[in-house]
Parts: sequence; structure tokens; C-alpha cells
Amino acid sequence: MPSSAPTTAFTAKTAAEPSALPAILGTYKRQAPLFVRGDGVYMFDEHGKKYLDLVAGIAVTSLGHNDAGVMNAMQEALATGLIHTSNLYRTAPGEALAKWFVDHSFASSVFFANSGAEANEGAFKFARRWAKSTGHQAKHEIIAVRGSFHGRMPGTLAATDRPAYRLPFRPLMGGVTIVERELEELRTVLDPETAAAVIVEPIQGEGGVRVVDPEFLRGLRELTRERNVLLILDEIQCGLGRTGSFFAHEQIGIVPDMLTIAKPLANGLPIGAILVNDEVARVMQPGDHGTTFGGGPLLAHVAHHVVQRLSDPAMLQHVRETGAWFGEQLQGIADRTGQVRAIRGKGLMWGMDVHEPAAAIIGRAFEKGLLLVSAGEHTLRFLPPLVITQAELAEGLAILESAIQA
Ligand SMILES: *Cc1c(COP(=O)(O)O)cnc(C)c1O
Repeated sequence: MPSSAPTTAFTAKTAAEPSALPAILGTYKRQAPLFVRGDGVYMFDEHGKKYLDLVAGIAVTSLGHNDAGVMNAMQEALATGLIHTSNLYRTAPGEALAKWFVDHSFASSVFFANSGAEANEGAFKFARRWAKSTGHQAKHEIIAVRGSFHGRMPGTLAATDRPAYRLPFRPLMGGVTIVERELEELRTVLDPETAAAVIVEPIQGEGGVRVVDPEFLRGLRELTRERNVLLILDEIQCGLGRTGSFFAHEQIGIVPDMLTIAKPLANGLPIGAILVNDEVARVMQPGDHGTTFGGGPLLAHVAHHVVQRLSDPAMLQHVRETGAWFGEQLQGIADRTGQVRAIRGKGLMWGMDVHEPAAAIIGRAFEKGLLLVSAGEHTLRFLPPLVITQAELAEGLAILESAIQA
């Protein structure tokens, strides 16, 4: 064989062994068309068909597609030629983004991760690191509540209350317990000698868009303080403007010890963050945790632009007003069709329990050019871009109503 012959083909399949399997591992059921373009609240498929996007990449593209500010921030970052440095070196965008959060939240320090699950996994580690520093050697337990979703990785899966996600992967990470969403139960479970942290979503997203009772959350904050246990709020889905305040916990009037965020943080670029108070920050030492990519200059520069946009009072007022109107319209659909069991939500995060399987309605809506996602078998979930107008929502509501009636 001449030395110039290609040597990369020897693992390729021959025609004799074709594969019926999808090249991308089959962990998702995907709609058939290829999506090729996005603009504002619309996505376009390969045939030029336009879809109104009430999913926003699952609460990610809050500023919509092809947003001029996001695109410009990306160009500015690319112009430096520096996409990545690793966390061995300092960069200005990461420091500016961290400083922004320190200036605009309870946090004294921020750790950047690459996704929501990673942010929560990190928060669990930080909680255990802190717990050991209290002198109780058996203090390590992480407690989550009924209906929770915190991610698909070992620790976060153990804290996720969805049997179908959990059962094939047992044994799950130890030292993680799911309890009822009730103060009485937590009072019996929270032992200061063994419990490190409680994690809860102020609005449970995947679990069916359940607005957790603010009284429960305020009581939980008090109880965790009493028992010397950390409170972690997971605002990966409900945070960053989604419910009409920049952080969901502002509306509840509590302050967590740690807060995790991710989904919309860079409007589609993968970044997550753990915001920690000074008590937690003080125990973390070099070497205690790490990430190769986390908080790189491109992502951080774009995220810095995004958080300024999403925290703008005019944006938050738009979310509150448009969201309240949207909730009323969903109720109207419920009243007119008789096909809806319940509606829950806040801001631009809503769930609608339907009699039919949600997937059937989502399929018919897709045919009519409307993108919807479920949250459980009988719940439709609405997570539109936060920049959506009332007229655009009205367009979606009309399609939704016809898809529910069909
Ligand atoms: C999506 C989500 C996660 C997991 O985020 P990934 O980026 O998918 O790992 C965790 N918690 C909540 C509340 C979420 O909505």
C-alpha cells in the first residue's frame, strides 16, 4: 500500500452491514423535518415551513432566535480569537459575568458549569464540602422533594422524582432522598447531624409546571436555618426572568444559600452557574471542584449581554403582563373546549393538564405550525421566548385551540 493511501477508512461500515439505528443515539423521539433557520419567535424547516416557537428550546432561547444583541455579543467575543482558555487562566468576560451576579444577587461567588445538571451536581458537592466543615462527619445527605427534576446525571438523577428516568439506572447515587413536599415531613427528616442540603425548584418544570406553595418555601427556609442545613434553589428553568422577576425566589421573599441557573443564561450556548453565599464560598479550596470548559470567554461574554437584557425592568414587566394575559387565554380555551383539567403557571411558564395524551395534541399542533412541549404524559407546557408579543401569542393560542378540539 502506498504511504499516501488514506488510512482513516478501515473502521467504516461496508454496504453489507447497513445499520437501521439512527446515527444520533436514539434517546429522543424527534419530529421528522430538519430545522434550518430561526428568526424571532419562529423556526423554519427545510421545506420553508414556519413554526411559532412556544418551547424556546425548553426555556433556553428567551430572547428568541437570531436576536441582534446576542449575535453582536457573539461577534464581539469571536473578534478576540479567544474561545477557550481553560480555568487555569483569567479572562475578563468570566470575571465580569461573575461580578455582575455578585452585584445583583445574594451571592458572594459564582462557579460556572456547562449545563443545568452539572450546576446541580456541583452544588451537591459544595453542600457536602460545607457540611464536612461543620465537624459532623456523617453530614452529607441531599434531600429533594416530590415532583422534582434536577437532571440526568448520577447525583441529580437520584434527586429526580421520575421513576421512568430512574429505574433502569439503579443503583443511583447514595445519600440522596426524595421526600414529600410538606413541612411536617421535612421536620422529621432534617437531622442537623446528617442532612447537608435541601434542593427545590420554586416552580417545578418537568414535574408538570407546579408552582410550589410560597408558604412551604418560606417555612423550609426557616427550618433549614434552624437545623443548619443549606437551601439550594434550582432556578434552571424558572429563573432569569421566566416568571416575571429576574430570580423566581424574589417573589417568594426568601434567600437561598446556593442557587443554580442554566437554560437561558447564554440564549442557547451551553453554560450553567452555581451562585453561592459567603458561608459556602469560604470552605471551597483550589482543587475541590473543576471543569475544563466552564465559563469560557465566548460563553461568558454572551451570557453577560443576556443577563442584562433579561433583568431589564421593562422586560420583566412585559413578562408579567403578557404572562397574566396568556394565563387568562388558556383558561378561556379550557372553558370553551371542555378538554382541559387544570391550568397552572406564572409569568411565561404555564402548564395545561389535558384529558388526551399531550403527545397527540403536540403532534397536531406541529402539523399546524406550532411548537409545544409536554411536562408529563397529560400536561402541555408553554415556555415561549420572553420577547414574544401578545399578537404572536394569540396566533399560537388559535392553533392550540384547534389542535385541542381536533
Ligand atoms: C433542565 C433542568 C435541569 C437540567 O439541565 P440540563 O442542562 O438539561 O442538564 C435541572 N433542573 C431543572 C429545574 C431543569 O429544568
